[in-house]
Amino acid sequence: MSFRCGIVAVVGKPNVGKSTLMNAIVGQKVAITSSRSQTTRKAILGVANLPNAQIVFRDTPGIHDPKSKLGKAMVDTAFQTIPEADAALWVIDVSRPASDEDKRVAQALKELGFERVVVAMNKMDRLRPEYVESRFAEYGELSAPAQMIYTKALTGENIKELLELLVPLLPEGPPMYEDPDFYTDQTMRQIAGELIREKVLSHTREEIPHSVAVVIEEWEDGEVTHIGAAIIVERESQKPILIGKKGAMLKEVGTLARKEIEEMLGGKVFLELFVKVREHWRDNTARLREFDLL
Ligand code: GDP
Ligand code: MG
Repeated sequence: MSFRCGIVAVVGKPNVGKSTLMNAIVGQKVAITSSRSQTTRKAILGVANLPNAQIVFRDTPGIHDPKSKLGKAMVDTAFQTIPEADAALWVIDVSRPASDEDKRVAQALKELGFERVVVAMNKMDRLRPEYVESRFAEYGELSAPAQMIYTKALTGENIKELLELLVPLLPEGPPMYEDPDFYTDQTMRQIAGELIREKVLSHTREEIPHSVAVVIEEWEDGEVTHIGAAIIVERESQKPILIGKKGAMLKEVGTLARKEIEEMLGGKVFLELFVKVREHWRDNTARLREFDLL
């Protein structure tokens, strides 16, 4: 049996389950996920090793109409990832009708060619039976002749079948990454920062999830790893919300993040969180660079 290896861009509009699906395929929490839109801010590498193939995924930020420099950089990242890939996994939320954003994704995928695309009709658990036919027709029209498959990323349903559609689209060749334990190019520091941000996202609402960045400022290995992280917000008024009553919010976020970071590192962690205000950082190129987002 020949071996295949190639890059697969994971694309789609925000919040359809791209990162959840890639994590399920890779079998590791490579990218953080949340019910807030625009959780993923950079293209994230995730490697899946199969008996007959190595798939190098690039999970991308959701394609949307950007309102800030950060948003523009995110959408640009998604667009740039597509032509560099051998194939694309277009994730759609099949429980919702196709929107203008889905049409923009379809437009972006045109240059790759839909014969190189597999459509994951995700959130199949939320698809009402009476819409099965119309949704299939609607998304099928946007993506023909791409192959389509229903998935439930949350539980990994149909992933084996999805991979069987994806692998034949990759070129024959040896694995790009020989170490079977390698699954992402993010550093522990970067993942720790993302895990903290994930906990902030699940505990805040409206504009705040979009306004938050996390910067790891201290990292000292030892019997207990000492980590100091700044949670950056955009406005002074957001600071008390992040801190919470008597520091309750910060404590809750810190405890949840620390547990996951300890799991990742396989040892004890002392995590200290601070909240800092950096006015309108999302529209400030220097800040975006400083926060590793550009
Ligand atoms: P992304 O923005 O496209 O990367 O989406 P995420 O992976 O962050 O997921 C967005 C939300 O959809 C999260 O709350 C996920 O738990 C949820 N989600 C993902 N896949 C499924 C699914 O198959 N079914 C349901 N019901 N929810 C899902
Ligand atoms: Mg994502």
